[in-house]
Amino acid sequence: MAYDHEPHKRNAYMREYRARRASGNFELRRRGRKPLDLGLLCTWEFEWYKAFHLLRDGTQLPADPNFVAANERATREGLRWWKKASLKEILGDMQPGTPPPFHEVPEGEHEKAKKHWEMREWRWLKDFAEQQRKAEIAALERWLKPRESPARAGRCENWETLADPDASIEAIEHSCQEWKILPDVRAQGLGVFADHVLVNMEEFRRMKRDQRYPGPDADDSRMEHLARGMAGVMVGASPITAIQRLRLMKHDSGGPLWVEKESWIDTNSKRIEAPPHCRCWRCSLKRSRRTWRRLRTLQEEGHL
Ligand SMILES: [Zn+2]
Repeated sequence: MAYDHEPHKRNAYMREYRARRASGNFELRRRGRKPLDLGLLCTWEFEWYKAFHLLRDGTQLPADPNFVAANERATREGLRWWKKASLKEILGDMQPGTPPPFHEVPEGEHEKAKKHWEMREWRWLKDFAEQQRKAEIAALERWLKPRESPARAGRCENWETLADPDASIEAIEHSCQEWKILPDVRAQGLGVFADHVLVNMEEFRRMKRDQRYPGPDADDSRMEHLARGMAGVMVGASPITAIQRLRLMKHDSGGPLWVEKESWIDTNSKRIEAPPHCRCWRCSLKRSRRTWRRLRTLQEEGHL
């Protein structure tokens, strides 16, 4: 048993166990007695976090100001380059290849035919370069345009209903129906998350009645709590157990997802060795944020 060394948790587990037996769906949840696979639980937590975040904010993850700044700078530089680049700069080494032998042209006109051919080839290359310039500028300008957030108010209301500990079953059902049909939710195939809430309505409402459920001022923590609880539902464990285990999980060298050694081959066939790290999504996200922050600093100090 995973809880043997932590008696207070075992008691909580036993309480949960008895509650399940009493509630009659014990057989259904029997799988929950297996030791928890924290890697799987963490993966589901991430998926639920992204699904809730998309519902509330219109993006799967919170925006990273350093990522935006670092990329915006590079994009603006790219844009400037494409706007003033000469044909030669765009084409680089590209030039007309070897002209055909012109067998069909009389001997004396070969030179003229060759010149003609080269001129036509250069015209084609010039058009090609201009088209490339246009396409690049359009793509970069699109990136720089402020992202339109899809009708925030309505989605926010649906999230608030889901997060509200006093929301009725009918209100949650209604919000789930609206959540499911949001165009970006459908496009990204995330409608199933609303279905999971509908199917597990009782579990979902129960985790909001937990004494640890954060107050209305801590909306991000509420999202975390619900994502962890639903991750538990996904792996057949009790939501409260999942919430506790994920909350107390260690992320250092003693943690369950700690990786001492990891290496991979990069695109230049070079072996890359990663320093020891926790492979959970939170720590991965933190690492990538640190990278963007460093990149932004380097750019601002003029090293890049
Ligand atoms: Zn971690």
